[in-house]
Amino acid sequence: MKNKALCVYCGSSPGTNGRYVKEAEELGKLMAESAIDLVYGGASIGVMGALANSVLRHGGNVYGAMPKHLVDREVAHPGLTKLFVTNSMHERKALMANLSDGFVALPGGFGTLEELFEAITWSQLQMHHKPVLLLNTDHFYDTLIAFMQELTEKGFVRPQHQDISIVTKTPKELIEYFLDNSFK
Ligand code: AMP
Repeated sequence: MKNKALCVYCGSSPGTNGRYVKEAEELGKLMAESAIDLVYGGASIGVMGALANSVLRHGGNVYGAMPKHLVDREVAHPGLTKLFVTNSMHERKALMANLSDGFVALPGGFGTLEELFEAITWSQLQMHHKPVLLLNTDHFYDTLIAFMQELTEKGFVRPQHQDISIVTKTPKELIEYFLDNSFK
């Protein structure tokens, strides 16, 4: 992979607000136009599928990684540039992280949050120095952002780690931040 690549975590469901899928599609379009490859969990459903389809539709590259046991449940996308089928969830996450130059969380559920916090905590431990970006579609992450601030006020997160995740309001702002702050 010679292009820059973004690892995007997002819901395997579409959510109840049409803007979640719409902004994922907008992000996919901008990624393809900016020659940024997509690395994601490989599903064809929910926000995940909408994002992948948009990147492909606009001529970009999409790399999926999915453990064997989820291939049917999450309906592995049949049209990706490449789908890596892994032996475990841990292998999936490690591969996705290694292939990417930055991490993004779009709206999603527990899986999305688990992956987002792994990217944040690994940055905190200096296991990577890649940007971690939140797309705050329609204030989706407002309550989580407020809670993360409380963690510092309550003495559990050091002030210098408070801003590991960068909050962006639009796909355009997200892509501009990534292009200015990735090292590849
Ligand atoms: P969700 O946000 O729950 O819809 O999940 C989004 C994606 O995260 C799906 O592809 C899930 O398979 C994946 N996922 C769920 N749990 C985990 C986990 N513990 N580690 C890594 N990925 C997960």
